[in-house]
Amino acid sequence: MATLQHFRELDPLPGSVGDVFRLIRSDIATTRSALARKTGLSPSTVGLRVEALQRLGLIAEDGEHRSEGGRRARLLRIVADNGHVVAIESGVRYLQVLVADLEGNVLGEARHDGVLELAPREAISAMWERIGELREQIGGASVPLRGVVVSVPAPVDYATGRIATPSYMPKWHGASIVELFSTFTDAPVLVENDANLIALSELPARGHSRENLLAVLLGTRIGSGIIANGQLLRGENGAAGELSHTPVNAEPTIACVCGLESCLESAASGAAVASRLKVLGHDVRSMTDIAILGRGGDPEVLAVLRDAGTLIGSVLASSVNFINPRSIVLGGIMSTSAPLVAAIRAELFQKCLPIASEGLEVRAIEAPETAASRGAFRLLLDEVLAPARVDHLARQADAAAQIA
Ligand SMILES: [Zn+2]
Repeated sequence: MATLQHFRELDPLPGSVGDVFRLIRSDIATTRSALARKTGLSPSTVGLRVEALQRLGLIAEDGEHRSEGGRRARLLRIVADNGHVVAIESGVRYLQVLVADLEGNVLGEARHDGVLELAPREAISAMWERIGELREQIGGASVPLRGVVVSVPAPVDYATGRIATPSYMPKWHGASIVELFSTFTDAPVLVENDANLIALSELPARGHSRENLLAVLLGTRIGSGIIANGQLLRGENGAAGELSHTPVNAEPTIACVCGLESCLESAASGAAVASRLKVLGHDVRSMTDIAILGRGGDPEVLAVLRDAGTLIGSVLASSVNFINPRSIVLGGIMSTSAPLVAAIRAELFQKCLPIASEGLEVRAIEAPETAASRGAFRLLLDEVLAPARVDHLARQADAAAQIA
């Protein structure tokens, strides 16, 4: 049974095995003497903690580090290759699988056709097969699988791993990705909204942050993730940042499940822009085609992109007034469309309160195609290597040793 317990939010006991691991992982203390100084533990107790971590295969001691007294101390480091973590990005039209080591270095990736049209059980089974194929391909089929994170384009109830509002994925109503994965693996499985992961990708890889930002995913649909004071804001039902169904005063070009006459998604999402461009006679098969068409400079195409950008900018202006972020980061393939982004910026700065827009930075995210997976690995590694989880593993190992 896959664990639904989230260790990331729990604090480890000071001086515990997990606490010592936290200090090593965050580079705060990477020698035995530094650990003793930082924790106040005796050198022999530090030795016991280090041994416990070595038995778990999580750290190794090697190299030499000149300590202040001139003596050479051996460095403690994370054993990055003692486990795989997997990020699955299940998009509207594609499935992307990435495998990384325990430091988040990507070891392999593969892109396949999307599976969200399938029934959940079949879709998860297909995901599991793709994970196995990729791990085999990179020669790591026997490396322990430490965790999986699945990114979906829908609001998620993070605590249970259920898709909160399946919107255009009716077959997924009430489906628990975590439960479905538990027939294949005991490793922890996390499920998160794609825009939330893009927001998380903007935080530093380790340590604390006081960032306030709004990440906006401009793809086939529109999603957004909020970081408030360094923390992802999920909201009571996982719907925080769900600005795509804000009512707008514009003609909808695609139908939307939200039931509003016209919402931002139905009038200005990538799918809505594609539909408008098709009516104008353009051959649009993907979001990338829209970005390419925009670069061509056709006045009709530019007008469509400008209209969509204006609607998005107007909704974002209300959000900026409301949460006062330091930056708005635009992700998704549509964020590579310069005319769309220019229209968003123009409308946003014109409509929002000067006090909210002062110092506001609006920019396209770097490497948009991998942003969600960067955020996914950050979330997953913080969970898989959470100090409280390491304490839990150490207790399990002790209990097993006593039985044996
Ligand atoms: Zn809608």
